Amino acid sequence: MRILLIEDEQKIASFIQRGLKEEHFVVDSAYDGEEGQYLAEINPYDLIVLDLMLPKKDGMTICRELRQKKNTTPILMLTAKNTVRDKVVGLNAGTDDYLTKPFSFDEFLARVRALLRRQREDKTSLLKVADLELNQLTHEVKRSNKSIILTSKEYALLEYFMLHANQVVTRTMIFEHVWHESFDSFSNIIDVYIKYLRNKIDHGFKQKLIHTLRGRGYILKAGK
Ligand code: CA
Repeated sequence: MRILLIEDEQKIASFIQRGLKEEHFVVDSAYDGEEGQYLAEINPYDLIVLDLMLPKKDGMTICRELRQKKNTTPILMLTAKNTVRDKVVGLNAGTDDYLTKPFSFDEFLARVRALLRRQREDKTSLLKVADLELNQLTHEVKRSNKSIILTSKEYALLEYFMLHANQVVTRTMIFEHVWHESFDSFSNIIDVYIKYLRNKIDHGFKQKLIHTLRGRGYILKAGK
């Protein structure tokens, strides 16, 4: 899943980036409000982490403007202040949750996961398709109860497929949610990773789960 981080404090930004990457999220970063809002408007993020005090444009204004433009991406606001008044103002501006600095990464991650789960009908962290299982908390992947070791990118790709099981997933969707802003979309990198994933997930199993839909994309499902 792809997260936009808008935070001007370099130390906090790299602490969050590092932690999220370890959890297999794709992270785009902006260090001022204008750049952050621009990225939020042109890319379909799964979550936006937004600092309140930012150069060029503050977090509250960005949040209000995104909501006015019908952007419904969940927003986790980071704030140094912790007064009741700020919380009320923030919720009116359309943020979904708050975190007051300083915070531990575990605390931050728990909020991120809760917001991402809220978007889904199925609220569990254990994703299942046929005998394939992916645990979003431990990052364990199993097929027929046998552990499968995936690289970070393979994991992110499989997680995206499993969150969209039985739905057509286009190459554009994969680029937008599993790869970074600066990626060259004309390369064959997706095909390469689908091949890696098939080797690990489907190879040796009679029932194939990843199917190619010629000219349309891919679908993860049990059966043809
Ligand atoms: Ca700041």
